[in-house]
Amino acid sequence: MSSNPKESLKSTCSYCGVGCGIIVEKDKKGKINVKGNPDHPGSKGMLCSKGMNLHYTVNDKSDRLLYPMMRYSRGDQMQRVSWDSALDRAAAVFKNFILKYGPDSVGLYASGQMLTEEYYVANKLVKGFWGTNNIDTNSRLCMSSAVAGYKLALGEDSVPVCYDDIELADTFLITGANPAWCHPIIFRRLEAHKSKNPNTKIIVVDPRKTQTASMADIHLQINPGTDIVLYNAIGRGLIEREKIDLDFIINHTDGFEAYKEQVMKRTLKEAANICGVRLDDIRWAIEYIGRAEGFITMWAMGLNQSVVGVNKNLSLLNLSLITGQIGKPGSGPFSLTGQPNAMGGREVGGLSNLLSAHRDMKNPEHRKEIADFWGVPSVPDKPGLSATEMFESLKSGKMKAIWIMCTNPLVSLPNSNIVEEGLKNARFVVVQDVFNTSDTAKFADLVLPAAGWTEKCGTMTNSDRRISYLNKITEAPGEAIPDSEILIRLAQKMGYGDSFNYITPADIYAEHCKLTKGTNIDISGLSHERLKEKGSMQWPVPSSDSEGTPRLFTDKQFYTPNKRAKIHSVPDDNNSEAVSSELPLILTTGRIRDQWHTMTKTGKVNKLKKHIDSPFVEIHPLDAEIRGIKNGDPVLIKNDRGSVRVNARITNDIKSGVVFLPMHWGRILNRSFARANNLTGSLIDPISKEPDFKFSAVEITKYQKP
Ligand code: SF4
Repeated sequence: MSSNPKESLKSTCSYCGVGCGIIVEKDKKGKINVKGNPDHPGSKGMLCSKGMNLHYTVNDKSDRLLYPMMRYSRGDQMQRVSWDSALDRAAAVFKNFILKYGPDSVGLYASGQMLTEEYYVANKLVKGFWGTNNIDTNSRLCMSSAVAGYKLALGEDSVPVCYDDIELADTFLITGANPAWCHPIIFRRLEAHKSKNPNTKIIVVDPRKTQTASMADIHLQINPGTDIVLYNAIGRGLIEREKIDLDFIINHTDGFEAYKEQVMKRTLKEAANICGVRLDDIRWAIEYIGRAEGFITMWAMGLNQSVVGVNKNLSLLNLSLITGQIGKPGSGPFSLTGQPNAMGGREVGGLSNLLSAHRDMKNPEHRKEIADFWGVPSVPDKPGLSATEMFESLKSGKMKAIWIMCTNPLVSLPNSNIVEEGLKNARFVVVQDVFNTSDTAKFADLVLPAAGWTEKCGTMTNSDRRISYLNKITEAPGEAIPDSEILIRLAQKMGYGDSFNYITPADIYAEHCKLTKGTNIDISGLSHERLKEKGSMQWPVPSSDSEGTPRLFTDKQFYTPNKRAKIHSVPDDNNSEAVSSELPLILTTGRIRDQWHTMTKTGKVNKLKKHIDSPFVEIHPLDAEIRGIKNGDPVLIKNDRGSVRVNARITNDIKSGVVFLPMHWGRILNRSFARANNLTGSLIDPISKEPDFKFSAVEITKYQKP
């Protein structure tokens, strides 16, 4: 790496929702290096192991997709074709299916790693011009329960807090999240805050003793699926000890009396038994939360990825509402987004049940506003298919064609068999991606090469509503072009050209900003120019004078019709898959520190393999002993859906009766024996449609070579 870089530009880490600011340096040979941007308000110059090694994924071009590749029938070899031939065929196939079988016969499945501009074009194309709401993204897999929870409790999908609240809070409840590994820079801020302020209390709720749990004052190592029982018990304890904010409850919320009745149904002792934790630990958690000056809850997939994910969210949000710990510095509910631009995708309405700028799909006026703005007769009123539903529909033959952008559903979606059968049964599959390492691409009829994150410009929004600008720094190799350009060319081929006449991504962003005007996420005061100058800003930014909005609801006016937040009484049933004598163990899947999703990027970086280089299953010593399993033994995890073969890691860090399997491996087809989603099922939350990745019934045996 040159010590005298030719160019140095600001960008944003393209991995997780923390959204750390980076400085990308390019030397004279075009090689890049990255370092933390000390001026970024969220990350303040820090980067985690994944972010520090981000440049390897750009410098190594060995497995890049370079040209459009197509085959005319299944079984044929893929052949290089021109962009014109590729998009002519794709446009003809999609138009034909829409004409013959109706708009719902096609769909688009995208990713929280896309830029907001790309999301915007995809959403407009599908909902406005294809005439279907069948556009969903892998954000469905991580955040949709939080989105639904916020909407039901606060009136809209709105994260009220910002990262700077971390240093202003004195009590944290972290649940279903391991920020030490999965949101490391947030964790570092938390760690530094606690070390400077030792009275800061951290309560961690997790069936596993994670690195985050290791620094907790109380680790509530609950039985999987008992979260709501615990939060209701904490609610009861706060009410009984009169540690609630009655003034706030009376003036700014609805639903408290019904909630009180609900949480009084179980004693704390019953709750402790069901959750499998010490009663005293629950009492201490109540004590800490009750005396908090600033109370923040943080959560991620452990809560969201459940068949009752929305109820889990609501029961947790209730704790912020009954204590009045929202809308003031150092307090509030803080969902941690998994992907770098999950929030930006939600802003443009990039899920099958959302509309642009948080408008409501059920509201005819909202639909008309969007239709008029896009110049189309209407946008559909019926929610489209969610992520898992799309592949089920392909399998049944109802959906004919799918366009997959920037994600690898064969590895990341639950119940891999259904995804694979859906892809096989589809009449036409398009995969648009950066690398040729996606298993999903093996089933494609058309593969399109997309530009990587340094090869295009645009914006992303992180977990605390901070919109950052990403500069273009390098040229894409071969014939790869930005995702938005691919979609614009497709729209033109399909005859919608007049509505997709964008010259640059700045034009797309300007249109998106204009469409937010007057909404609660109004960013009409933003533009690429302004973001380039400022680096980043937090929405809403309703005018060019606005400096953004670090925290929401400071006026205690919520986004519900009567401006009051809603306290929901939710049942504490689990509803996940039942364990049985044949399948007695609960499988929970998750992430490890140095890998990202299905390893299409981090799998290329040797340094990141040093932490953990191969798949494993965590199992408690008691469960291992009765099965004759020793540490490091190859084991077979199985259920009715499939099997996984990995080595056992025996540890007291996991509860007896629970096993943990990382979700990253399975990327390469000949290692699909390690694919965690061979075992996960098709249960989804009925409201959010988020799959239940955290509770599958399995059995483990020592692996015997056939
Ligand atoms: Fe990137 Fe997330 Fe690490 Fe920050 S914490 S460097 S955004 S992976």
